[in-house]
Amino acid sequence: RIAYVNGRYVRHADAVVHVEDRGYQLADGVYEVCEIARGFIIDMKGHLDRLDRSLSELRMGWPLERSALELVMREVIRRNHVRNGLVYLQVTRGVSPRDHAFPTKPVRPALVVTAKRTDPRVSARKAEKGMAVITVPENRWERVDIKTIGLLPNVLARQAAVDAGAQEAWFVDPDGTVKEGASTNAWIVSKDGVLVTHPADFGILRGITRATVMRIAAEHDLKVEERHFTVEEAQAAREAFVTSATSVVTPVISIDGKAIANGHPGSIARSLREAFFAIAEKSPTC
Ligand code: PMP
Repeated sequence: RIAYVNGRYVRHADAVVHVEDRGYQLADGVYEVCEIARGFIIDMKGHLDRLDRSLSELRMGWPLERSALELVMREVIRRNHVRNGLVYLQVTRGVSPRDHAFPTKPVRPALVVTAKRTDPRVSARKAEKGMAVITVPENRWERVDIKTIGLLPNVLARQAAVDAGAQEAWFVDPDGTVKEGASTNAWIVSKDGVLVTHPADFGILRGITRATVMRIAAEHDLKVEERHFTVEEAQAAREAFVTSATSVVTPVISIDGKAIANGHPGSIARSLREAFFAIAEKSPTC
């Protein structure tokens, strides 16, 4: 495998960053994960627009011009012969003697790009099974709209899910409101067939897959409501599912051990997943 690190393509095994990289020491950086299907990067524009926003919220510059970064992403994918998989990119504020405040001398942001293959049959099987979700108290900072590499609450939440024999954890506010998963956006289908997901103006990451599912829903005359919903409402819903570049659309079959409907993946989640792949094939963005 080959990775891109600060201007060079290197063997993945030799891909390292400096010990004083501010991402390594302070989690002072941002990232994106894009799905690759049949050799195309899905929603690349959306991911790079979000990267631009994350960078500017942290007053960081682009490590390369946008078009050059696109080229690097394609080159890493090509060199790793990825037809189906994921491309990961990370931008940190750069290498500078450890200090909480920004470096006073200008430093070049550090860029790492990696790509890996995934087996579409494995993710299809996971989607067919559906996932079990647990809930955990929301304990993250307020700026979860920025896609930073500071992911400890998400790491601990996901591990709590794994420890409980589940696959994802949903962050829940004290009033019972479901925010989003450790690395996914959370959705339910209400009793009357309306898709419901938390508003993206505050308190969640504005998922790229979430936006694509909204477009698909509109094309299929499915109603979407961006509003708060509680764990209780989710457990009584017709369906539940999660979205992300990694999981695409994956049905949720239980929440805190309580089965959703009959405990099998719902048909709306299933058809949204199929429609997603159909769109990806029709309008590749790479
Ligand atoms: N929420 C969180 C906390 C995430 O880490 C992710 C994955 N990036 C998502 C939602 C889903 O976003 P996307 O659809 O852009 O992958």
